[in-house]
Amino acid sequence: MLILVMNCGSSSVKFAVLDPQNPSEVPLSGLFERVGSVGVGHAGASATIKRGSEKREQALVGGQYADAFALIRAELDAMGLSAKLGAVGHRVVHGGAVFNAPARITPAVLAAIRQCIPLAPLHNPANVAGIEAALEAFPKLPQVAVFDTAFHQTMPPAAYRYAVPERWYTQHGVRRYGFHGTSHGFVAERAAEMLGQPLDNLNLITAHLGNGCSVCAVAGGKSLDTSMGLTPLDGLMMGTRSGDVDPGLHEYMNRQAGLSVEEVTATLNKQSGLLGVSGLTNDMRDLEAAAATNEKARLALEMFVYRLARAIAQMAVALGRVDGLVFTGGIGENSDYVRAATLKRLQVLGFELDDEANKVAVRGQSGRITRAGSPAALVVNTNEELAIARETAALVGEN
Ligand code: ADP
Repeated sequence: MLILVMNCGSSSVKFAVLDPQNPSEVPLSGLFERVGSVGVGHAGASATIKRGSEKREQALVGGQYADAFALIRAELDAMGLSAKLGAVGHRVVHGGAVFNAPARITPAVLAAIRQCIPLAPLHNPANVAGIEAALEAFPKLPQVAVFDTAFHQTMPPAAYRYAVPERWYTQHGVRRYGFHGTSHGFVAERAAEMLGQPLDNLNLITAHLGNGCSVCAVAGGKSLDTSMGLTPLDGLMMGTRSGDVDPGLHEYMNRQAGLSVEEVTATLNKQSGLLGVSGLTNDMRDLEAAAATNEKARLALEMFVYRLARAIAQMAVALGRVDGLVFTGGIGENSDYVRAATLKRLQVLGFELDDEANKVAVRGQSGRITRAGSPAALVVNTNEELAIARETAALVGEN
């Protein structure tokens, strides 16, 4: 059975059609950019369609989600694959405290996802728009929502509560939710396979380092703590996001510079992190290249690594015993520099880098990068599309 996996963001929509039993082949995938929200088409919308290894770009006439689904359907028809499509799996960013697992989409589930919009005002509206358009485009297919937050619902209260008045929690849901759950869960399973041990017995720290970055303490396959919180702005330094800052910062910048709450938040989301400190780029590749000659780029790198190592040590406290550390995401999978510098800082936890293995583990090579006798550190390739397809197939199969 083929699953259509949809990842509808605020300005772009990514999709992939794949068979979770045969993940090495992705017959159809693509990206839509500048797609309008429901009812508002964009003239400049474009589509990049990949059939196997063949790639082409075209305008997306109409520019709405419905047009994107019509194009996917036409591609599947042309490839003779429409009859094999069995379900649609949607990535949904925020499931609040309502969803601790993927959910088959029903009117009640859609309403609950809408209710989480205040918690993720940038992401959940696009997810909802994508689901609504998919229900119209594929009315006969079962559809499933897979939440970024669900994996972290196993965190204990000591990890997920903030030290704020209880009524903020009970009335407004102010607590830590965590994100990137699909990826943390997927790479923890892969790491157990690579270590040849049952996931149930393992205490792992997973570091998902892409444009957004978070670490997670995974004990026996369950999240015990994570660095992202109420929103994906918390925790590690990221491409354009600040990670944690002093909670007094908003008021201070309001008094000193006359910035509104919204302006400070926007700056922390879009102009901070690697970009804000280097003044050059949010892209780790470019930053590493610039660091040879540019002091601000060097500082941004040093801060990224320092804060990452510190957050990993925090996760070690959550676990008590660490059996393995996993690097994943675009930076985790490709930057031997970030991995080496982070592990150097983590000698306090007993990690000893295997330099050769670390240099080899780039461009999609997974493997162990610490010496025998050291706790294991692994490079693992994440595959969120596959994880969503598997979860979707499992849920649809059961019903
Ligand atoms: P997203 O979170 O949007 O899915 P990715 O997981 O693809 O993003 O991660 C993007 C990040 O990975 C960027 O900072 C990019 O520079 C970094 N990256 C990709 N390849 C390399 C590389 N060879 N060396 C260092 N960083 C890399």
